[in-house]
Amino acid sequence: MNRRSVRSLDRDTLDGRRALVRVDYNVPLGAGGRVEDATRIDATLPTLRLLLEGGARPVLLSHLGRPGGKVVADLSLRPVAAALEHRLASPVRFRSDTDTEQAAEAARALPAGEVLLLENTRFLPGETKNDAELARRLARLGEFYVNDAFGSTHRAHASVVGVTEHLRPAVAGLLVEAELEALSRLREGTERPFVVAFGGAKIGDKMPLVEAFADRADTLLIGGALANTFLAAAGREVGRSLVEQDAVPFAREILGRAGIEIRLPVDLVIGAPGVEAGESRVVAAGGIPDDMAAYDIGPVTRHEFAAVIRDARTLFWNGPMGRFEAEGYDAGTRAVAAAAAEAAGHGTYCVIGGGDSARAVHEAGLAARVSHVSTGGGAALEYLAHGTLPGLEALDDA
Ligand code: ADP
Ligand code: MG
Repeated sequence: MNRRSVRSLDRDTLDGRRALVRVDYNVPLGAGGRVEDATRIDATLPTLRLLLEGGARPVLLSHLGRPGGKVVADLSLRPVAAALEHRLASPVRFRSDTDTEQAAEAARALPAGEVLLLENTRFLPGETKNDAELARRLARLGEFYVNDAFGSTHRAHASVVGVTEHLRPAVAGLLVEAELEALSRLREGTERPFVVAFGGAKIGDKMPLVEAFADRADTLLIGGALANTFLAAAGREVGRSLVEQDAVPFAREILGRAGIEIRLPVDLVIGAPGVEAGESRVVAAGGIPDDMAAYDIGPVTRHEFAAVIRDARTLFWNGPMGRFEAEGYDAGTRAVAAAAAEAAGHGTYCVIGGGDSARAVHEAGLAARVSHVSTGGGAALEYLAHGTLPGLEALDDA
């Protein structure tokens, strides 16, 4: 998937001209609108600096949360504008409208060296429907288009896809470019052994991804709640563990496939469901009592998974190995994160994708030690499964 990069734009395209930039500032907001994690803001700074240095005037569009096509005061991007200004160290203006003629006028009047951020695109009912009329109004904001919202690129929305009908060039920002480079490397020409570690909870969403990698990986490591579904498929007792019944036949089919090495947990950390910070203990897989649930992989499994990861030449990891947010169930996720960092240290190409997995490696302080941590979540998973995304199709070819 080769898309034209923002780096290819010449002086004539940039200087004095308005760049309509789709960013993904879907950041967690705390009390009083404080930005609790600015990773997604920081990820766009290289593209914004490149545009500003080239003399372009960036006009930014983003969504935040799921307001469902109407104004929801708590989901305003206003606090994000302040956080961006602080981190970019250039003036950032904010407007509480998005697709009006006045907003377009404000964009045209934006002084060189400044940035304009408009209000949440999902306050507009046409955004998620890729409404053609809305796309036309949004396109008035810029003279060319940059997509640096990797995490939104799997959405055929007006600010991601529709708007590109009216703006050329339409190019990939540096974040999108870096994501594509890292994720493409997992789809093509992967060095072996290629190990894929899956965990997390949403097996329904992950079936296409498991499918995409099942035959290509040398070893699949399966932990997290995902492992419960596989253990159930293998006929083991899982007690009250989280199992997606609908996915059991799929798991059974994957387990039955020839030529794939699949490692399921051999031991598990279990606890009583609904009890926070209750007593936990380790049991062998298959030995979960009826009233208990598995919340993490056990110590023997941690050791085995870490050993497989250390011997990999390529690693892709998606989904925490347990309920890592809860006290006492984070050891599996930490062990896999540490093994990934260690492997990356001796040259293994290590990519981590998925919103919660990314959070876990950031929290473990290991993000800088692996090859790439995708900011993409769903977009990364969809790109890995299908090799393209609607918002990429909409951009110029390289
Ligand atoms: P990602 O965002 O990295 O793709 P998911 O969203 O699929 O990952 O899964 C993350 C969630 O899975 C976390 O909230 C975590 O608590 C939960 N989880 C992981 N293992 C278990 C388990 N054994 N039981 C219940 N929930 C689990
Ligand atoms: Mg998640």
